[in-house]
Amino acid sequence: MSNRRIYMDNAATTPVRPEVVEAMLPFFTENFGNSSSVHAFGRNAQQALIDARATMAELLGCTPNEIYFTSCGTESDNWAIRGTATRLRNKGNHIITSSIEHPAVLNTCKQLEAEGWKVTYLPVDKYGIVSPEDLEKAITDETVLVTIMWANNEIGTVQPIQELAKIAHDHGVLFHTDAVQAAGAINIKVKEVGVDMLSISGHKFNAPKGIGCLYIRKGVRIDNIIYGGHQERGHRPGTENMPYIVGMATALKLAYEEMDAKTEHLTKLRNHIMDRITAEIPYCFINGHREQRLPNNVNVSFEYIEGESILLFMDAKGFALSSGSACTSASLDPSHVLLATGLLHEQAHGSIRISLGRDNTMEEADYLVDSLKEVVAKLRAMSPLFNK
Ligand SMILES: *Cc1c(COP(=O)(O)O)cnc(C)c1O
Repeated sequence: MSNRRIYMDNAATTPVRPEVVEAMLPFFTENFGNSSSVHAFGRNAQQALIDARATMAELLGCTPNEIYFTSCGTESDNWAIRGTATRLRNKGNHIITSSIEHPAVLNTCKQLEAEGWKVTYLPVDKYGIVSPEDLEKAITDETVLVTIMWANNEIGTVQPIQELAKIAHDHGVLFHTDAVQAAGAINIKVKEVGVDMLSISGHKFNAPKGIGCLYIRKGVRIDNIIYGGHQERGHRPGTENMPYIVGMATALKLAYEEMDAKTEHLTKLRNHIMDRITAEIPYCFINGHREQRLPNNVNVSFEYIEGESILLFMDAKGFALSSGSACTSASLDPSHVLLATGLLHEQAHGSIRISLGRDNTMEEADYLVDSLKEVVAKLRAMSPLFNK
C-alpha cells in the first residue's frame, strides 16, 4: 500500500475550494436568515441571494430571473424534462434524447415512457457524438423536447450543442442540455449557444454536493415538479439553501476566471497521459474523441483484463480512478455509454476513467502511467484470456 493519495476522479465529484468554504461560512452562523423574512436577518439573506443569482447570470450569459436554484444536477434534469413534458402534453408526447445520457436524464425519460410518453434515444458514432442529421430525422409533429448532454461524464465527448439546438428550434421544439460536466470546464454562454434550458451542479466545479441550478430561458413555461411557497418566483419552492447557493456562485466565478489557465494545464496533462498510455501499453485504446473532449477526461480500454481489478490495484498505489460513472459502477452492467460507441461487453468491462483536477501535476501524470503499466502487466500475467 502507498501512503500517497492522488485524486483523479473529478468527474464523480470535486473538493470544495477553501475560498468557497470561506464565502459560505457566514451563512451558517451570523447570516443565517430566511430570505423571506422582513427583518434585517432576512434582508441580508435576500441580498446575498440577489447577488449570487446576478453572479451566476452574468457568468452564464443570461438575466438573473432566468436562473433557478435547485438541490442538484439530478433535480435540474428531472425538472426540465418532466416539467416540459407535462406542460406540453396537449401539443405532443414525444421526447428525443441520446443513448449516452447520465442516469438523471435516461431514467427520467424511462419513467415518462412508463407513463405513456414516447422517447427516441439517438445513437452516437464511435467517438460518442450525436449526429445532427439523426436528430433532424427523429423530430416529428409530436416532439415537444430535445434533451442532449453538453459533455459526457464517462468519455468526455463534447456535443455540437449549438447546431443541435438550432435544429430543434427550426422545428419549433424546445432544447434542454445537461451541462453538468461542461460547467466550469467550458465557457458556457447560454444565449450564444441558443439553448432553452440548461442544468448544472455545484459539486462538479468545486462547490459542495447538493446544490444545482436550472437556466430557463425567458418565455419558456414548464410545470413545477414540487409545490409550496413563493421561492424561485413560485417555480421551485423550498427555503433557499443560502450557504450552498453562495458557495456555488463563488465556485463558478473562480472557475470562469481561471478557465483559460486551467484548460491549458489539464489539456497538457490529458494529452501526455493519452500519448504515453497508447505508446507504452500494448492492447489498449482511448475511448471518446481525441479533440472534442473535456480537457480533464481520459477514458481507456485495456483488453483481456477487468477495469474493476485495475481500479483496486491502482487504489493500493494511492490513485482514485473510476471504471465509468459513479452512478453505474455499483452495478456489474457494462457502461451503456461505451456500448453505445460500439464496444463489445468485454472491452467495456476493461475500461477505466481518469478525470483530472486543477491540482494534479505532470509528475502525478507520469506516476499514473508508470503505475498503470505495472498493474496492467501484472493483471495480464494472471489473466487466462491473455496469452500473447
Ligand atoms: C454528476 C452528474 C449529474 C448529477 O448531478 P448531481 O448534482 O450529482 O445530482 C447529472 N449529469 C451529469 C452529466 C453528471 O456528471
